[in-house]
Amino acid sequence: MIELIVADRCTNCGTCIEVCPANVLDAGQGGLPILARVEDCQTCFMCELYCQADAIYVAPDCDRRVAVNTEEVVTSGRLGQYRKHSGWGEWADRFPNEQWLMETVFRRAGEAAARRKATSPDE
Ligand code: SF4
Ligand code: SF4
Repeated sequence: MIELIVADRCTNCGTCIEVCPANVLDAGQGGLPILARVEDCQTCFMCELYCQADAIYVAPDCDRRVAVNTEEVVTSGRLGQYRKHSGWGEWADRFPNEQWLMETVFRRAGEAAARRKATSPDE
């Protein structure tokens, strides 16, 4: 679920508010997004992907909120990591978009199925 918007990084562009499919965010004072309806978050990471300022942190737990500390998240290097590894925006030429295409996961699943079939052809 979305846990954090780092105000110091946010440029108040409003993109995350627009792209959120679950209407989780509202524009607060000066345009800074506020987590208005966190319980509706689908952990889809769209807000993270579209935030060019790398100001949003979505925790991978989609069932419950997790306590996060702004300083820890900023120093951890996690901000912007999902965009980068998804080959999103300015990263398109440097990283394959495997998180969307699931290429590696499907290839490994296919290889595992082929190995299983080779060792147990009657299954
Ligand atoms: S997309 Fe990022 S920079 Fe733009 S309003 Fe949302 S948090 Fe701020
Ligand atoms: S993770 Fe998805 S549902 Fe949750 S706030 Fe971001 S865009 Fe909205």
